[in-house]
Amino acid sequence: MTSDIFDNTVICKDCSKPMQKTRILKNGFYFRILQCAKCDNKIVHPEDKLDYQNFLKLRNKQFNVKLRMVGNSYTVSIPREIVNFINEQDKIMNEMVKLSFERMGKLALIFSEKNLFEVKKDKDQKEDEE
Ligand SMILES: [Zn+2]
Repeated sequence: MTSDIFDNTVICKDCSKPMQKTRILKNGFYFRILQCAKCDNKIVHPEDKLDYQNFLKLRNKQFNVKLRMVGNSYTVSIPREIVNFINEQDKIMNEMVKLSFERMGKLALIFSEKNLFEVKKDKDQKEDEE
């Protein structure tokens, strides 16, 4: 097994103090962060950064899927690409998902509720949007 780089003590480049491990939540993603208590310097875990970039790529993609009548209901197929990504992130995908009529013209599927509550907004949000 390889060890995680965040298991090492990282020293802040500006004040030479050891940085503290913390987490932030953004768009349903947890980011592991190393933060300097003194100057607020932050390092985002590179794996989490990469996952988030892949998520942004998927989010900007539009899929055309067909509605099919099955019994008295309609079904849609969720593209494999999205399912695989959710599986990688959540490890296991529930067979039951929650569906709600979010607004006229839009339905929402909730695969996992654990990431829905954003506790803290990151100040450097714009930097990470790329
Ligand atoms: Zn510092």
